[in-house]
Amino acid sequence: MKTCSICNAEDPKGINILQSFLCDNCLMRISKTRVDDPEYDEIVNGIKKVWQTNESLK
Ligand SMILES: [Zn+2]
Repeated sequence: MKTCSICNAEDPKGINILQSFLCDNCLMRISKTRVDDPEYDEIVNGIKKVWQTNESLK
């Protein structure tokens, strides 16, 4: 079972980005969330974590 790198949900639907996995739910949130939305920071931090994971594997 894949686990989403942002929300940690175990969701078989989603896509692999770099070395990580993002569920459809988070992808939708990323596309819909605005900068002034309270959820925005959480999502950005999740993406940063994905990026750092990829960087550490190089
Ligand atoms: Zn997710």
